Amino acid sequence: MGKQAFLCKYAEIGIKGKNRYKFENALCEQIRHRLSKIDGEFTVVREQGRIYVEADGDYDFEDAIEEMSHVFGVSGISPVDVIEDKNWDNLTVAVGDFVERQYGSKSFSFKVKCRRSDKGYPLTSPEVCVEMGGYLLERFPGLSVDVHEPDVYIWVEVRDKAFVYSKVYPGACGMPLGTNGKAMLLLSGGIDSPVAGYMIAKRGVYIDAVYFHAPPYTSERAQQKVVDLAKLISRYVGPIRLHVVNFTEIQMYIYEQCPHEELTIIMRRYMMRIAEKLALQNDCLGLITGESIGQVASQTMHSLAATNEVCTLPVYRPLIGFDKQEIVDISEKIGTFETSIQPFEDCCTIFVAKHPVTRPELKVIRRSEENLIEKIEDMVNTAMETIQIIEIDE
Ligand code: ATP
Ligand code: MG
Repeated sequence: MGKQAFLCKYAEIGIKGKNRYKFENALCEQIRHRLSKIDGEFTVVREQGRIYVEADGDYDFEDAIEEMSHVFGVSGISPVDVIEDKNWDNLTVAVGDFVERQYGSKSFSFKVKCRRSDKGYPLTSPEVCVEMGGYLLERFPGLSVDVHEPDVYIWVEVRDKAFVYSKVYPGACGMPLGTNGKAMLLLSGGIDSPVAGYMIAKRGVYIDAVYFHAPPYTSERAQQKVVDLAKLISRYVGPIRLHVVNFTEIQMYIYEQCPHEELTIIMRRYMMRIAEKLALQNDCLGLITGESIGQVASQTMHSLAATNEVCTLPVYRPLIGFDKQEIVDISEKIGTFETSIQPFEDCCTIFVAKHPVTRPELKVIRRSEENLIEKIEDMVNTAMETIQIIEIDE
C-alpha cells in the first residue's frame, strides 16, 4: 500500500490570478492549524495548484477528515494513495488495491479519469483510462463501466509520483481565514448571530465577539450559552476573543428615562455604539449582526435604519434576506441549533415592551435619547472599562 494522503480541493481561490499563492499559503496554514488539534503527524504541501496532506503516525481517519472539513477555502477532501513507483504494472496493482480498500461491495459502475503532467509517461491519459478500466474489470468482476453516469469516478494522476483517489468528502468552501481582515460579531444566545458570524468568517474574515450581559436579569447560564456558541463556531472561525459587556446599568437607565415602546431601539443603538468602540480598539473593520428584515419589531427597515444610524463602520448583516427556516437550516448544519434553542433569557427579551415601535422616527428617538444625557456617557465608559474578556478556542 502506498502512503496515505489527502487531496484538499479548493474552488474560488483558483481564480485569484497573481495573488493566488497568498490564498494558498493561508489555506495551508489553516489546514495545519486544524490538524494540530488531533493526534498524528501531518505534512501539508502545496504542489502544482494542489494541496496535499500527508498523514503519518497514529491518527484517526475520521478525525482528520472532520478537521479538514472545517477549514474555509477547502471545497472537498479526497483520501489519496500516493504511489511512488508509477511503472505501469505497479500502478495497476496499486489502483486495484486502492479500490479493494475503499469500497466494501464491489458492485458499482465506474469511470477512470486521468490527468498526466508527466508527459514522458509511456501511456497517454486516454490510454491510462482505457487500460486501467480493463484491469479493474478483470480484477473485480462485479464492476461495470459507465462513461456517462458512473456511480464512482476513479481519478488517476500521473505526476512525478502517481496518485489515485475517488471519494470526496464535502468541505466548508469559502475563503481561508486571515485573507480578509477582522470584524466584531454581536453575539447573543439566539439562533441568528452565530450563523451570521459563521457566514462572514466563511469569506476569510477573523471574528471577535461582544456579548451584552445584564445580570441579574440575565443569568450566568445565559452567558455560558453564549460561550458555548462561541466555542461551537470557533471550530470554523478559529479563536475568538469574546468581550462580555455588563449592560445592566445602561439598560435600567434607558428603562427609567425613555418611552417603553422605544426601549428596544434605544438599547440596540447603545449596543451598536459600544460594539463599534470595541471594534475600533481591536482593529476590526466592521460589525456583524444576525438581523433579518422584518423578523421582529426591531428589524423592520425603519428600525434597522435607526440602529444603523449610530455606526460609522460598515455593519455586515449576512442574514438580511433570509427566512427563519433558512437560518435554522444553516445553524443545524454548523451544529449550533441545539445550543441556541436552550431556554435562557437574553437581555433583550426581559425589557421588551408590549407594543414596541415598528416605525421609529429618528428625530423622536434622538429626542428620547436626550433624556439620557446626564449619566449615559459615564455609564458607557464604565461598561467599557469593566469588560470581561474570554478567550475562546474550542
Ligand atoms: P439572535 O438569534 O442572533 O439572538 P434575534 O432574532 O434574537 O437574534 P435581536 O434580539 O433583535 O434578534 O438581535 C438582533 C441582533 O443583535 C442579533 O442577531 C445580535 O447580532 C445582536 N444582539 C442582540 N442581543 C445581543 C446581546 N445580548 N449581545 C450581543 N449581541 C446582541
Ligand atoms: Mg437574540
